[in-house]
Amino acid sequence: MSARREISFIRESARSVPSWWPKFQNRLTSMLELLRHDKSQKSVRILKVMLVPFGDVDRRNLEVLADKLQQVLPDSEVKLTAAAEIPLNSFVPSRQQSLADAFLSALLKIAQAKERRKALGVTDRDLFAPSMNFVFGQALRNVAVISTYRLMPRHDLNNRIELLQLRILKEAIHELGHTLALGHCPNSFCVMHFSKSIDDTDLKSQCFCSTCSAKVRKLTGTHHSIR
Ligand SMILES: [Zn+2]
Ligand SMILES: [Zn+2]
Repeated sequence: MSARREISFIRESARSVPSWWPKFQNRLTSMLELLRHDKSQKSVRILKVMLVPFGDVDRRNLEVLADKLQQVLPDSEVKLTAAAEIPLNSFVPSRQQSLADAFLSALLKIAQAKERRKALGVTDRDLFAPSMNFVFGQALRNVAVISTYRLMPRHDLNNRIELLQLRILKEAIHELGHTLALGHCPNSFCVMHFSKSIDDTDLKSQCFCSTCSAKVRKLTGTHHSIR
């Protein structure tokens, strides 16, 4: 082989693709397609929650809540919004309490513009429903509100803030569970158990029991493996 022909042969070899390349390239393309498809499926299943403070709610507690909610609900996106106005006429002077329904109506309007988004309101007002002395929270369709008023621990407790934040988290998950169409659970350790008093809230965990967890997975798709 002359020197000139040898150079031409080397150049030709460098340009030609190995025999296995087309097969490998096809496989790579289909793998990337699968990944793209899976990503788009997953984005549909993401639980988008707007966290809406009403009035003067401690921002630190809200930031902790947003962070912990995302840990408990793995495929969720929790966004803390600016404070909303306390709904007009929500305060009922004869009861010295605020009507939870008024907050839910305001939240429905806030959430309306955001497709598939859930809105969770947090207020320090003492909430009530017409048939009850008070409520820790209430849900309606894709929105819910919780009150920190009756979650405040006694002043002499060392772990006051941690306990308050844990109670807020439990009530928040409970109400979000209702927005996912879950009802109350007879298991007193399940987050979906109805709290008649703060003792019930302290007894239950921030987790869904296996039955409620399975219901959530069925209602929202497998990506919502709520712990
Ligand atoms: Zn409930
Ligand atoms: Zn349960």
